[in-house]
Amino acid sequence: MKIGRDARADRQRVATVRKTIGDDADLFVDANGAYSRKQALAQARSFQESKVSWFEEPVSSDDLEGLQFLRDRAPAGMDIAAGEYGYDLDYFRRMLVAGAVDVLQVDATRCGGFTGFLQAAAVCEAYHIPLSSHCAPALHVHIGCATAPMRHAEYFHDHVRIEKMFFDGVSAPVDGALKPDLTRPGLGLELKRADAAKFAN
Ligand SMILES: [Mg+2]
Repeated sequence: MKIGRDARADRQRVATVRKTIGDDADLFVDANGAYSRKQALAQARSFQESKVSWFEEPVSSDDLEGLQFLRDRAPAGMDIAAGEYGYDLDYFRRMLVAGAVDVLQVDATRCGGFTGFLQAAAVCEAYHIPLSSHCAPALHVHIGCATAPMRHAEYFHDHVRIEKMFFDGVSAPVDGALKPDLTRPGLGLELKRADAAKFAN
């Protein structure tokens, strides 16, 4: 869930969501870099009560020391994640050299496609850090299966909606898992040209 606009309201919202989804589901939060370091730390401690297991961009992704500060102090069981803005290998390398994240986020639509994704995965392996794909779930299914440090794929509903609008062959999750459709060639996706055409202009 998105957080970051109002720290106090966020604590209440997170607690409400935990109550609503029960104890079995993982609860991930994404602040998109909205908090200061100390504010994010206070939030992390508060979110522990709601068993938040993923705190994405608690501070700006440009603040690598701040991410490391949070990573070192966040409660056990709460991963600090960032990396979604990475366009090149040096961005990912700097993030891991700084010890900024427990899990590196990588987006094939931003980092040079599958070539860049595989390069980022190799850097993750070298640093013993797992990888999570960012958005575009249909695009990351196959490459995720071929990537050793892959932990999970972000399944973002507005992206899923767009994928279904424009492509045939989008895999649906089963028990929380996406699997490649091996009966279809390539990525299994086919552009719905007629549906896409009306957005061409
Ligand atoms: Mg994010």
